[in-house]
This record gives sequence, C-alpha cells and structure tokens, in this order.
Amino acid sequence: MTSIAPEPVTTLAPADDEVHVVCCNPDVALCGTDVAGLPWGDGDEETTCIVCRDLEHQNCPRCGI
Ligand SMILES: [Zn+2]
Ligand SMILES: [Zn+2]
Repeated sequence: MTSIAPEPVTTLAPADDEVHVVCCNPDVALCGTDVAGLPWGDGDEETTCIVCRDLEHQNCPRCGI
C-alpha cells in the first residue's frame, strides 16, 4: 500500500475586488494616486487607501459609472 501525500494546492486567487481604482483606468486609484505596478489590493486592508474606500461608493469621477 503506497501512501502518496497530496500536493499542496497553491491557489492564487485574484484580489481584483480589493483594488479601488478608477474603473476606466486601472493604473489610477480613485483618489488619484498612480498605482501602476504597485502591489495594490493584496488582501491586506492596511494597504487600502481610506480615500479610495470612501470614493468607491460614488460614481467614477471620470466616466460617471
Ligand atoms: Zn470610469
Ligand atoms: Zn486612494
């Protein structure tokens, strides 16, 4: 009887819903911060800008969506 340990499944779930960016420009945060290339929205709430949190409940300042 051979027991094979299951390989650890590494699931890197995208945290796109944590990224508070302008809907028509993913490189710009809602507050206007250039977030291109930044590790934005990696699940750590400490990295979530409070300005963006507040603005995410409003329409996009650019396209109104
Ligand atoms: Zn927009
Ligand atoms: Zn922000």
